[in-house]
Amino acid sequence: MFRAEWVAAVSMDACNGCRLCMRQCQYGAIRYSSNNKKVSIDPTACYGCGVCRASCNKNAITLSPRELVTGAAGVW
Ligand code: SF4
Ligand code: SF4
Repeated sequence: MFRAEWVAAVSMDACNGCRLCMRQCQYGAIRYSSNNKKVSIDPTACYGCGVCRASCNKNAITLSPRELVTGAAGVW
């Protein structure tokens, strides 16, 4: 399995903490924080498959070009 040229990120303003996206990520890249009751995505673990974005009813997840994301650029 190769990583895609994209990396996912979560908008803290839009996320309601429902965790639907977490259940869809096969790579364990999405973490839930009980402190702020929202999720975040580890860019170094994300494969850029986009499944999480499709599962989010709040449109809180965006995909950005891997080369522009700190920590993920050059990670294939
Ligand atoms: S599915 Fe969307 S709203 Fe729900 S936890 Fe994930 S990013 Fe947040
Ligand atoms: S894009 Fe794919 S690998 Fe990255 S966080 Fe979303 S579901 Fe996980």
